[in-house]
Amino acid sequence: MIKVKTREEIELMRESALVVSRTLGILAKEVKPGVSTLFLDKIAEEYIRSQDAIPGFLGLYDFPNTLCMSPNSQVVHGIPNDKPLKEGDIISIDCGALKNGFYGDHAFTFAVGEIKEETKKLLQATKESLYEGIRKLKAGNRVGDVGFAIQKYCEDRGYGVVRELVGHGLGKKMHEDPEMPNYGKRGRGKKLVNGMVVAIEPMINLGTHRIKQLSDGWTILTKDGKPSAHFEHNIAIVNGNPELLSTFQYIYKALGIENNEENEFRHTPLLI
Ligand code: MG
Ligand code: MG
Repeated sequence: MIKVKTREEIELMRESALVVSRTLGILAKEVKPGVSTLFLDKIAEEYIRSQDAIPGFLGLYDFPNTLCMSPNSQVVHGIPNDKPLKEGDIISIDCGALKNGFYGDHAFTFAVGEIKEETKKLLQATKESLYEGIRKLKAGNRVGDVGFAIQKYCEDRGYGVVRELVGHGLGKKMHEDPEMPNYGKRGRGKKLVNGMVVAIEPMINLGTHRIKQLSDGWTILTKDGKPSAHFEHNIAIVNGNPELLSTFQYIYKALGIENNEENEFRHTPLLI
């Protein structure tokens, strides 16, 4: 059952989304060769707790850490460890937090130093596909319209769209209805309505869309060992249109990047 949110609840969810957005902004300064994902996990946990929030993933379905840390060919759900990142890696960081009874859930794939041109293009296309999907998140459209837009954008460029893991409704639970697949058919699936809040999160592979799972019971990897990217935003439908609750602007500020990609989805000014 889809739980639509009131305007007041959406404003509380914006706070939760901004906690995870700021967390990724802090991590953006720390992602570099020689740093371990476990070190980054501790920074994130400390910051989230300092914001009167609690880590959203820690203990959720028994996940052992604050962040999902998925380098290179890992798609999602990687477990932080003490192995240092190295020049040329990519690292997908997924962060959840619970504040005021509502979850935020946000992800970004970072480059560690200089990365290959083909990997840069994969990251850019995955992020752009997220916005292609968000553009379709309008009242009256259907879940399949969002998935179709993401899938088409990525497959037109030769990338593999992961099928087994999907976006989701977000609220008092981390995973609410409806599921938001990154593939689909136009005009199919549940109807989108005002007050819905969802996490859209394309997981896009450089090669095959097929995946496998490590014996740790968590880590998802690409079947062909090629890189995978993951970007995730939290969006509400307000007055029929998508309203971005999370933001990558803290990351861009930390990295010294000017970027106005979010402006078309933001009707409330963001003060950073
Ligand atoms: Mg997430
Ligand atoms: Mg999610």
